[in-house]
Amino acid sequence: MNRLEVNIMFSLKSPYHVSADRVSFGVDKAICLDPRDNRIFIPATSLKGIIRHNLESTLNHKNKKSCIAPKPENMCNECNICKFFGSPKNKALLLFEDARVEETELSSRMGVAIERRRKTAKEDHLFSYEIGFGKRFSTKIRGFFSKDNDAITACVLLYIGAKLGFALGAGKSRGLGWVNIEDFNTFINGKEIFIDEINKKTMELLQ
Ligand SMILES: [Zn+2]
Repeated sequence: MNRLEVNIMFSLKSPYHVSADRVSFGVDKAICLDPRDNRIFIPATSLKGIIRHNLESTLNHKNKKSCIAPKPENMCNECNICKFFGSPKNKALLLFEDARVEETELSSRMGVAIERRRKTAKEDHLFSYEIGFGKRFSTKIRGFFSKDNDAITACVLLYIGAKLGFALGAGKSRGLGWVNIEDFNTFINGKEIFIDEINKKTMELLQ
């Protein structure tokens, strides 16, 4: 068995909002908080979805075979993305953890609900939403593979997906939540794989 461990650190360029089913006094839309320590976090499923989406757009753009999640009928079950990130027929080989933030700051902003059909602001639909800010998020992704080559391929796919950066949460149009990769650390069977090698493999895969 080949064991892959990838540690990624993201920096947050602006505050963000991801809604939670939590009631926060005086705010209409509360942010996702870890109940254990009240810190903001990015749920593993959201992070995985974002990385997969980035990867799919990059590979499709390069005309590499790729399919589009999450609709089962649009997923091929055969490509590397389906293999490592999972599909209706494959259990994912990569395990994502929630991304944790170093320090949490919370505040609130006001927003206006838009009537979709008329594209105008609904009357009396001004709402407040909570935003969070933390300079850095970090997460760990793990995988176990029977083939050597699968561990490095999975790592390269994660690198491509994470490197693109992304906007987090519901506030994209309000300019909230831009995230960039700060650090990408990989170990295969406990041995560090350096970024030069990952870059080289990335070029090979995208060629
Ligand atoms: Zn596929």
